[in-house]
Amino acid sequence: MILTGTGASPGIAIGNAYVLKKQEAALTGLILTDDSAITFEIEKFDTAVNSSLTEINIMIDSYDEDNGSEGLEILETHIELLSDPQIKEDVAQKIAIEKRNVNDAVIAVIADAVAMFKGMDNEYLQARAADVQDIGNRILKNLNITGKTAARIYQRNTIIIAEDLTPSDTISMDITHVIGFATQAGSKTSHAAIIAKSRGIPAVVGCGDTLANIKNNDHLILDGQTGEIIINPDEETIIEYQVKKENWLAETALLKSQKNKAAITTDGTLVQLFANIANADDMEHAHSFGAEGSGLLRTELLFMGRDSLPTEEEQFTFYKAVALKAKGKPVVVRTLDIGGDKQFPYFNFPAEQNPFLGYRAIRICLDRTDIFITQLKAILRASAFGKLKIMFPMIANVQEIRAAKVILNQAMEELDKAGIGFDKTIRIGIMIEIPSAAITADLLAKEVDFFSIGTNDLCQYTLAVDRMNEKVKTLYDPYNPAVLRLISYVIDEANKNNIEVGMCGELASDPDATLLLLGMGLKEFSMSATSIPHIKNTIIQSDMEFAKQVKQRVMAMDNSIAIAAYLKEVNK
Ligand code: PEP
Ligand code: MG
Repeated sequence: MILTGTGASPGIAIGNAYVLKKQEAALTGLILTDDSAITFEIEKFDTAVNSSLTEINIMIDSYDEDNGSEGLEILETHIELLSDPQIKEDVAQKIAIEKRNVNDAVIAVIADAVAMFKGMDNEYLQARAADVQDIGNRILKNLNITGKTAARIYQRNTIIIAEDLTPSDTISMDITHVIGFATQAGSKTSHAAIIAKSRGIPAVVGCGDTLANIKNNDHLILDGQTGEIIINPDEETIIEYQVKKENWLAETALLKSQKNKAAITTDGTLVQLFANIANADDMEHAHSFGAEGSGLLRTELLFMGRDSLPTEEEQFTFYKAVALKAKGKPVVVRTLDIGGDKQFPYFNFPAEQNPFLGYRAIRICLDRTDIFITQLKAILRASAFGKLKIMFPMIANVQEIRAAKVILNQAMEELDKAGIGFDKTIRIGIMIEIPSAAITADLLAKEVDFFSIGTNDLCQYTLAVDRMNEKVKTLYDPYNPAVLRLISYVIDEANKNNIEVGMCGELASDPDATLLLLGMGLKEFSMSATSIPHIKNTIIQSDMEFAKQVKQRVMAMDNSIAIAAYLKEVNK
């Protein structure tokens, strides 16, 4: 049997399935030692319940009555269960009296309630056990403490099958045992997929419900390029894919061997290739793929998988390690880009109907200037140890840049006063990932030293398509003329204003798009390290005159299907 999803991270994995059950939560066993933590844990519970109620109410409001009334009744039961004061009382007791944290308290209370319902004589009431478990899972999900795949020990050659994975699941995956994964949800540009690519883990995402056909220990072939998953293949197919896998590895090794070769087009235009990284290890790993530094350090991953905000000292140590590993090459340090799909339990994110349009990234930093200035000071201090640049994410207008620079100046003054050294000529840039920023690139260019085009978000916001939602994945299309026009305009304006412009979204690693982007005048590409050799190989076979013709042809086309077909053709 063959299933098809979206190929999100290339490579072939041949191994055995491990099906991660929905929202498995693990007991932490932590005991609260400080009384002030009790109120905090209870507040976290209330917030998670409120988020759960909001989610269910949205489901009720959008419920299609044509599907029958049963679904609606179940949702209404869930509202009742969530509003039951007994659950809150039991959880609060476990927190206040037994000093358990909210995670463990919820798991224990839900387990007791499930057992109680299961033990009842009445069949109807017995069935309520599943509903209690369901709301428990929802609360745990909203506490953001479920799916702890990282802590699990897997057998060798495991392919994880999951509803969805968080970015931190993917970053902490033990790749000596886990050789690939497939998810029901997600898209190529979900953070779990991006991290898989940078770690070289083959992945298929957005498989939808068909993934339920895979059972534990099924033998699988997963092709992260085509998005195919073959369940229990015959011997002949296994041999065929083993050969494919070896060819892929050999091609990557061959391309990697050219790591010291510059990325120069046939007519002598020099292009710079950088790596998107999450930490110092990634920076080190990136050199072996020929990266000329990093065009994007996603700092938010430092804030994930822990219990509290990292201190200035911890952050300084982290950024300094990256700066040193870059060995004098530039690293663009992006300030905190949290919210949306990047959440963590100790930061009380408000419940929002549209988190991707809400309280995130620079908006949080300009509100929580305490967090922002701590990060800026840590980055500045680390700039004394390498060539760091600072980049602000999710900029929508000029005021935000100016406000961010005021705080940056304050951080510089504080360091100056304390006699702490930093790079006073540090370059400041912004992500162009919101259409308003792209359209006003001429205005924003006057404020900064560089732009980096974030096509992942630019595409989602331009086309009004959630980058995480598998239902609308065919609409998520960076070849849409609207997206391409914005990209081309941003590059033109950066070049006119003599500021640097790069691209760090996933489009930078699409070999079919390379010629087009060169033709638009892009000369800095940043991507998962594993993609660098492949893009370099495309660049060294490209001719700038031809690239400009390709750009002209593409910009005259009116739809992405024709553009995709044309780009495939010219890249043959
Ligand atoms: C982007 O939006 O293109 C980008 C690079 O940022 P992130 O994927 O981290 O949102
Ligand atoms: Mg982004």
